[in-house]
Parts: sequence; structure tokens; C-alpha cells
Amino acid sequence: MPDIQCLPSHVADLIAAGEVVERPASVAKELLENAIDAGATSVKVNFRDGGKDLIQIVDDGCGMSPIDARMAFDRHATSKITSVDDIYALNTFGFRGEALASIAAVAHVTCTTRTKADQSGIKVQNNGGTIESIEEAACPEGTTFVVRDLFFNTPVRLKFLKKPVTEAGYVSDLMMRLILSRPDVSFRYISQGKTLYHSAGDGKLSSAVFSIYGREMLRSMHEVDGHQAGLILKGFVGVGESGRGSRNHQSFFINGRYMKSSILSAAVEAACRERVLSGKYPTCVLHLTMPYDTVDVNVHPNKLEVRFQNEAAVAEAVEAIVADALAD
Ligand code: ADP
Ligand code: MG
Repeated sequence: MPDIQCLPSHVADLIAAGEVVERPASVAKELLENAIDAGATSVKVNFRDGGKDLIQIVDDGCGMSPIDARMAFDRHATSKITSVDDIYALNTFGFRGEALASIAAVAHVTCTTRTKADQSGIKVQNNGGTIESIEEAACPEGTTFVVRDLFFNTPVRLKFLKKPVTEAGYVSDLMMRLILSRPDVSFRYISQGKTLYHSAGDGKLSSAVFSIYGREMLRSMHEVDGHQAGLILKGFVGVGESGRGSRNHQSFFINGRYMKSSILSAAVEAACRERVLSGKYPTCVLHLTMPYDTVDVNVHPNKLEVRFQNEAAVAEAVEAIVADALAD
């Protein structure tokens, strides 16, 4: 066996990037979560060629100071946690400080940003993990990331990307969940120059549902609003004509975060039994609010499965509240 050596940092970054950046949608997910964490009220997402050609995310959040903008690309650079305790009291998405380093390791990234306090902004160009230039820039308050030539230095990854329409489809799913999870933020998703989603950001879940599913569908859905066993359930359920051929249009948000849960799906389906055609599933957009210590969301950025302390009680409550809503 050869002697032990420490990996050069650019190799370590490429390996870390492999975990975080699987495809264009994962880049979008990280950048969007950062925008939301930065307090943005309006976020624009612009994709070309399914992200192979261009991924652009524009936010009106707090921006970064020139020093922070340079630091942000360092591995483990984060403004979100300062101690181990913070990991357990997370209310932001990111926490590893790895996303920007990972994205920059496998792409050409431009970050233009300005804080309220700064007169002028700063533009940082990072190519494959190396900062190529930093210059002053005139720009609005907030942050814009432009990602080009994704996977230019990892040909295998590049080869495994699917067709642009398929990659753009993954981003559509992501945008759908973000829009439904944050009615208070206005999102605009543009692909190939066409606006696919544009949410109002007026704080109303019905507006968010409208921007995804349209007026007819919203009108046909049943409003859910109830509480039981310490959980609050609010949102919309669609049965009959609004049923769908898969569970892809069942969206659950637990304390604001999108989660997949076979328990919740089963509870909703039990409540909707006999109201959907055979082979169809009810559509739903449901927000659950419950005490943080009764649910384990697995604080891993890529894990979507949830565990409840008392599964039976949660299932019973959800089924009862949804059944109530349908009865009205
Ligand atoms: P994390 O989100 O885990 O902290 P990232 O690598 O995603 O790590 O981001 C590093 C840091 O860069 C963040 O902690 C934040 O301070 C800053 N940052 C990234 N994106 C933005 C943005 N859109 N607006 C303001 N600050 C940002
Ligand atoms: Mg992040």
C-alpha cells in the first residue's frame, strides 16, 4: 500500500461537490435556500438548457459585504451556525457551509451582491473553485448567482445529465414545493425564456396554490383548517376531478419544510377514500405545524423522510381533520 497522504483541497472539494451537486436542480436548491435564508421577498430563477447553459438566481435578500462575498466560497464558511448547539436549533436551511464551495468546484460561478449598508456592490468570479477576480460592481441590494458550464471539469457527471427538458422538470418540481412552502415569497421561474411559475408572495397559501395549479383547480379543492392532538393542519385537498395519477401532487410541509411521508399520504388517502376514481390519488397541499420535539426531520439537507414520535396519533389527527374538511 502507498503511504498515507492528505488530499489536496481541490480534490477534496470535488469529492464533496459530488455529494451536494448531483444535477442542475441541486444547484438551484442550494442557491434558493440561501436566498430564502437571506430574507429575500422576491426570487427569480432563470434556467437555460435545463441548467447546462445557465442557472441564474436573483434575490433581494440581505446581500453580502465584500469580505463575506469572498469568504462565502470557502469550505465550511457559514454565517448560520457558530457552535454545535446551533445544529439542533436550526431554522435556516443550510448549515454545513459547503454548498457554495461545492458548486464553485464544478462550475463557473459569478456572484454579484450588495448589502443595504454598502454604497456599491461586489462581483466575485470563481472558476472551478479558484477565485479569478473580485471587482466593485453597481448592483441592486441583494444577491445574484450565475452558474455556467456546470460539470465542465467532471466529464462523467456531465455525461450522466439527462435531456434539458428532463433536468428542467426536476427544477419545476423543486419550484412547486418552494412556492407552496413559502407563500410569503414571490418566486418567478423562467425556463428557456418562458415564465413557468410566478407566485404572488402575498402570504396566502391559496395564492401559491393558484400559481401552481390554476384557478379551476383551486376552486375545486377543499380548504382544510383544523387542529387535533397538538398539531395544526391547514391547506387544500383535491378529490374527484382534481385527483391525479400519482402521489407527485401530494405536498406536505412540516413546520414549513417540504417532507415526504407515507404515513401522511395514507392518512389523507384514507380520508378521501371513495371520493377519488380508482387508480387516482387525492391532490393535496398541507401544512402541518407541530412541536419541534415531536418530529424528527433528520436535519440532513437532502433527506426528505420524516419520523413522528407518535405516528398513530398524527395519522389519526390528519385523517380526521381532512375528513372534516371534505364533509363541509
Ligand atoms: P450555508 O448555507 O450552509 O451557510 P453556503 O455555502 O450555502 O453555506 O453559503 C455560505 C454563506 O454564504 C452563507 O452562510 C451566507 O452567509 C452566504 N450566502 C450565500 N448565499 C447568499 C445569499 N443569496 N444572500 C446572502 N448571503 C448568502
Ligand atoms: Mg446554503
